[in-house]
Amino acid sequence: MTKTEAKIRIQKLREQIDYYRYQYHVLDRSEISDAALDSLKHELQNLEEQFPEFITPDSPTQRIGGQPLDKFQKAPHLVPMLSLNDVFEIAEVQAWFERIKKLLGSTEEVDFFGELKIDGLALSLTYQNGLLVRASTRGDGRIGEDVTQNAKTIEAIPLRLKPLKRLDLPVNVEIRGEVYMKKKVFKELNKIQKKRGEPEFANPRNASAGAVRQLDPKITASRKLSFLAYDIATDIGVQTHKQVHEILQDLGFESGKFNLRCQNLNEIEKYHQATNDRRESFPYWIDGNVISVNQLGIFKKLGVVGKTPRGAIAYKFPAAQATTVVEDIQVQVGRTGALTPVAHLRPVKIAGTTVSRASLHNLDEINRLGLKIGDTVILEKAGDIIPDVVQVLSKFRTGREKNFKMPSKCPVCHSKVKKRDGEVAYYCTNKKCFAQSLERLQHFVSKNALDIEGLGPKILEQLWNADLIRQPADLFRLTKAELEPLERFAEKSAENIVNSIRAARRVSLARFINALGIRHIGEQTSIELANHFLDFTRLKSASLEKLLEIPEVGEIMARSLVGYFADPENRKFLHQLEKLIRIEPVKPKASSGRLAKKTIVVTGTLGNFSREEAKTAIREAGGHWLNSVSSKTDYVVVGENPGSKAGKAKKLGVKILSEKEFREMLGLA
Ligand SMILES: [Zn+2]
Repeated sequence: MTKTEAKIRIQKLREQIDYYRYQYHVLDRSEISDAALDSLKHELQNLEEQFPEFITPDSPTQRIGGQPLDKFQKAPHLVPMLSLNDVFEIAEVQAWFERIKKLLGSTEEVDFFGELKIDGLALSLTYQNGLLVRASTRGDGRIGEDVTQNAKTIEAIPLRLKPLKRLDLPVNVEIRGEVYMKKKVFKELNKIQKKRGEPEFANPRNASAGAVRQLDPKITASRKLSFLAYDIATDIGVQTHKQVHEILQDLGFESGKFNLRCQNLNEIEKYHQATNDRRESFPYWIDGNVISVNQLGIFKKLGVVGKTPRGAIAYKFPAAQATTVVEDIQVQVGRTGALTPVAHLRPVKIAGTTVSRASLHNLDEINRLGLKIGDTVILEKAGDIIPDVVQVLSKFRTGREKNFKMPSKCPVCHSKVKKRDGEVAYYCTNKKCFAQSLERLQHFVSKNALDIEGLGPKILEQLWNADLIRQPADLFRLTKAELEPLERFAEKSAENIVNSIRAARRVSLARFINALGIRHIGEQTSIELANHFLDFTRLKSASLEKLLEIPEVGEIMARSLVGYFADPENRKFLHQLEKLIRIEPVKPKASSGRLAKKTIVVTGTLGNFSREEAKTAIREAGGHWLNSVSSKTDYVVVGENPGSKAGKAKKLGVKILSEKEFREMLGLA
């Protein structure tokens, strides 16, 4: 291929790729397959490599390829980016109307333009002689962050404006619009996040804002963002906002299919209702309408108050919002070990359900919100999206609020916590963390522990995956309403589980100790500990010496117990749990039972008792069952085929009982 041929071919490739891009990303039509389009891009890439002199800044190959940045540069806006006043009711729209009329005097006839308010991230694009030279975020309205590299990866943003037939644009033109994520892209993204065990995004606004503010443009590109233009900030000499939208389309932007010119209050309300009714069917999330004065001359005349224009409002749909207090922020660990901070809320009703927890996703999100523990916040639930903290009401602060700190140790397994390079999430470094904590839950509900019926391993994992439980205390906060939407949960089974959990709120001390799964402390030792200490408070504060006084507790066990109860994480965990359940103390029988304070060893097979029955009988009579004989043992009960314990008892001079004598002592014969 000669240089001239290459130049022509490159030119044609560029035009066609841009044409298909526009069809697909702006008009939502696909004329050729992704594979065919990729093939054209590939050819262009190869030719440009051979003939780098023909690379232009608006070539489709220039969308991706920027290097990751260390930080974003500041970018001043030529025209300030204003924000709109929110209104929620028609009465407020009417009040706005009247203010405008008053300011203008009654002579001028005003009409309005309604458009959809997309829930995304506002972006300002600067085109110089038609070429995209800068993209920046809103920032404080005057100075934003330069995210040009990232904006170039968004295919719905033209790198070069289409030439206009009847209008000459100024050298610099600032286009305003919203970066957003389509519903289906958002769902797909969260599916992937979930599969990877990464925290899911709460809403498309967070997902798109996060994607635009990535320092590595490759990540932005992978998020498949879209762009909808809604204004030209530069004065280009047209009369109405409606015309601005028409020009935006001519320039190659998507500018909204559902815009409408409205003559009066009645038409605005109709438009508002109609778009609210249809909002589920739109490919993107919207949270209301923007209503602007259509005549740009009047809009300008009305002016700006602070950072808000008088000539436009955001007429929001009734939001499912509620205010509550963040009582605590705790960290949950997912399958991959990713740590997710979760707000524990003062329970509040929102869209018909009571909400007591809301994921905060990651530390960046907490910092973005400026959230502290103890803060009053606005919680929002939109459509099928999980409830989300959207705003901190900092005026409610008393000074006692606390900053959240990501723990340095995993709250589940106490391994070290690390932040991976290039990711916002923190991780537990223990690869088995998830499996172990699930096992711990299984042990907690098992037959010899809290004995909660219906909570098999599969159900527990399901509850874990639905983000409902992370540790035993969470079980007692489960509600029927939380279980019902889960797969395989009918109303009845949800109710059954909630009931059996409720029944397990009263637990014997021995079962409770066993349920904790303390290293080296099994079922038998748990019973011994319960009978010795009688209530949980005494056990928790027992010293090593006190523990070693129990004949069945060896040094390793005693150290394990002391270590367990000294650990601050365990103390926090127990503190929570004790608020939710009732641990029944052991009734002291030692002084009244027939075997009061006696230590008894059984060897061989008894005719009338299984081993378990013998243990229970001894315990109920106030005695202590022991496994091995020492000089301190009071009695050894000898059954059929006794082991070496009988001989040892004889040697030590311990009193030996036959089964008959044993039964007599118990008052059974
Ligand atoms: Zn862990």
